[in-house]
Amino acid sequence: MASNLHRNGAQRGSAKFDRPLKPRPRASSPSPGSGFRRPNSATRNDAVPGRVRVAVRLRPRNAEEEMADADFGDCVELQPELKRLKLRRNNWDSDTFEFDEVLTQSASQKRVYEVVAKPVVESVLDGYNGTVMAYGQTGTGKTFTLGQLGEGDTSSRGIMVRSMEDILADLSPATDSVTVSYLQLYMETLQDLLNPANDNIPIVEDPRTGDVSLPGATLVDIRDQQSFLELLRIGEANRVAANTKMNTESSRSHAMLTVHIKRSVVESEDIVSTSQNGDVSHLIKPSKPLVRKSKLVVVDLAGSERVHKSGSEGLMLEEAKSINLSLSSLGKCINALAENNAHVPFRDSKLTRMLRDSFGGTARTSLIVTIGPSPRHRGETSSTILFGQRAMKVENMLKIKEEFDYKSLSRKLEIQLDKLIAENERQQKSFEDDIEKINLEAQCRIMEAERKFANEFEKEKLKCQMEYMGIVKELEQKLVLNQDRHDCHTDNGEGPAQSSADEVAELKMLLETESNRRKAAEEEVARLKWQLEKYTQPEEGGCFEITKLHNLLEDEAHQKKKLEEEIIILRSQLLQSNYEIEQMRRCLEGGSSGSTFSATDSSVTQVRHSQFKDAANGHKSPVATLFEQVGLQKILSLLESDDANVRIHAVKVVANLAAEEANQKRIVEAGGLTSLLTLLRRYEDETVRRVAAGAIANLAMNEANQELIMAEGGITLLSMAASDAEDPQTLRMVAGAIANLCGNDKILMTLRSQGGIKALLGIVRCGHPDVLSQVARGIANFAKCESRASNQGIKTGRSILIEDGALPWIVQNANNEAAPIRRHIELALCHLAQHEANAKDMISGGALWELVRISTDCSREDIRSLAHKTLSSITAFKSELRRLRIDY
Ligand code: ADP
Ligand code: MG
Repeated sequence: MASNLHRNGAQRGSAKFDRPLKPRPRASSPSPGSGFRRPNSATRNDAVPGRVRVAVRLRPRNAEEEMADADFGDCVELQPELKRLKLRRNNWDSDTFEFDEVLTQSASQKRVYEVVAKPVVESVLDGYNGTVMAYGQTGTGKTFTLGQLGEGDTSSRGIMVRSMEDILADLSPATDSVTVSYLQLYMETLQDLLNPANDNIPIVEDPRTGDVSLPGATLVDIRDQQSFLELLRIGEANRVAANTKMNTESSRSHAMLTVHIKRSVVESEDIVSTSQNGDVSHLIKPSKPLVRKSKLVVVDLAGSERVHKSGSEGLMLEEAKSINLSLSSLGKCINALAENNAHVPFRDSKLTRMLRDSFGGTARTSLIVTIGPSPRHRGETSSTILFGQRAMKVENMLKIKEEFDYKSLSRKLEIQLDKLIAENERQQKSFEDDIEKINLEAQCRIMEAERKFANEFEKEKLKCQMEYMGIVKELEQKLVLNQDRHDCHTDNGEGPAQSSADEVAELKMLLETESNRRKAAEEEVARLKWQLEKYTQPEEGGCFEITKLHNLLEDEAHQKKKLEEEIIILRSQLLQSNYEIEQMRRCLEGGSSGSTFSATDSSVTQVRHSQFKDAANGHKSPVATLFEQVGLQKILSLLESDDANVRIHAVKVVANLAAEEANQKRIVEAGGLTSLLTLLRRYEDETVRRVAAGAIANLAMNEANQELIMAEGGITLLSMAASDAEDPQTLRMVAGAIANLCGNDKILMTLRSQGGIKALLGIVRCGHPDVLSQVARGIANFAKCESRASNQGIKTGRSILIEDGALPWIVQNANNEAAPIRRHIELALCHLAQHEANAKDMISGGALWELVRISTDCSREDIRSLAHKTLSSITAFKSELRRLRIDY
């Protein structure tokens, strides 16, 4: 028996298909015996090739075929182990085809799910889009394969039911969500099977991403399998009702079930770390949480039989055309993709517009082609097989659908901010309570000491007085006794001299003892007095308790300062996220608007006026709130913080504030300009320098500040930054600041003598168009002021720009393809050309030709006519043009 083996361009098990995708945390069992191997790792933004996988499924003979074809063999013969199918041409000849999977009439629904749909479902759970689609003649088992509910017999559950079981088992209800829509496409009209009144749903394509959405289609939140089965039942009932009303059968419409999955992914650690005693100790840079949005699309196509077989006429013919429009467009797209054609006619039908991501897009796609065994339908079977073969050649580039979850990041930061504020308040309160307690205790102790001392003192005093009185009494008695004796001796006339001398000596001794005692008592009193003083003047005495209290107080103040700094950082991070959300929202709402230097910069996060105060509702922005709550002085003092992280955040906040004209005066008065210039001088970090330069550029928009910047040596610092920096954003800020200064007549000469023009010319080494545009603006500003000075007779002779060597660059860029650069340079040239003193250099430097070009080509009429006027009024130009015989 002759046999032709058809091999596809994309071979089974090709190295490309086996390239791994991103891993999922949960362990998954490999799909049994499947060519649809489950990939397992890839980086987030990498797209990986993934060919469309195609399986063929043969339906068993039905009762009618058993009868009618009893004497005939099947038109196909399957070799599942070789993944081959033979299609009989005649009794002795057949064609052989290879598929990714060959499913015989006895293949179970479970096996069909595992080899066809499970790998797709797992990909979808990993964040990729996925498609499972059935194609084949009416009656060959498409709906049986996909839509069987299996209520009576769970083993007959189809792909839709089994997919949802796996999805619900894998998701976590707290952080993830599943929503489902169910639609029917009939005669190029999309109907909602969950809300039949909704019968003309539009298809909308995002011009940026190419993603297709169906606004208006009912989306139902699925929490459990039961509610999903209910939804499928309702969809099926509506499909039958709609088809009865339209007098057709479901086999003539395409049904499309879309399961949207949204998962939260968090990749790094908490923001706040907590020490053992529960204190918040330091911050770690917060990670950005991610959301993965993916969808699984299950498509039950209309029957693929040809028009002539349906015997259609009239409406039926129209209908057949519409069905065929979508089906034949699908065939054409698959042919074009299989042959790698440059043009794929996706836009020809609604079906192909909706399936754009499934074929040649970023989704993982499995196609199951269903065939019947009857030789009577050999033609249909053959065309179905060929469709499947072509689809096997379609290569998709699988890409994960992941985006930053700014909303949840913002919420998380807000919660943490609240927590920190509460913690700060709690600590403050407990600190104040402690201080009060300690104060009370100290007072009690002092009072106790005073009381004790007073008692002791009284006692001692009393004792001394008693002793003193006792001694005086004794002495008096002795004195009286002596007196008596003396009288008696005088009467008897014997030995008075001897006894008196003894007594005097005795008295002297007594007196000495007494004076010693008195001295000791006085010393004791002095000591006690000193102790009392020590208690009553504790701060001078350096009481241990009080010193301890002081230390505690200092520690607490330090802790409080740190917490306040952390709060400011968090606030500025919150502000940053809000700003990014705002930017993203604007971007989504219609792309970014044209911007000027002063208003936008992605890295500096400058804030527009509208963000300070939301005009629509009058709410203050986070920056304004921060400004009010923290105070400008505090923010400026943070510019000198020891912590580099704090310095960076503080300078960003100051830059945000400086973007608002109303704040500029206050910033300058509070010494903000000096602090920013100091940061520029004390260069330590590129971000700090870039943001500081941006803030200075903002302040330099204001004329009053321009002179201040000059007075504080700003131009020298900017020139130094211009020669050191490599980062285009920094250079753009520096060039922008100098460009603003170039527009001030009063500081023109100082600007030049301090190297401003040379600095601008040095910056052009960067080559970035945004940077060059600032340089060009500076040169145009300078040329304008200089021209004004020449007209007023303040300045004479050649232009400083020419003297400082700017002319070659000006000429070289006069026709730059970037419009902002070109426009500034054209203006500068016109200003220079107005003065006879510059004409000679301009002619020899080639500027004359540019002037001639500007006078005819420039898109702005005022510049065109300025150039024209100059050419026809400056003598040197006129004679050069005459010499060259150019008639002007
Ligand atoms: P289609 O959707 O392609 O028009 P259906 O899924 O409605 O076809 O199938 C037609 C009939 O064949 C149904 O009665 C279905 O139960 C039966 N059938 C289809 N495939 C199988 C199969 N693999 N095993 C048993 N019965 C099947
Ligand atoms: Mg069907």
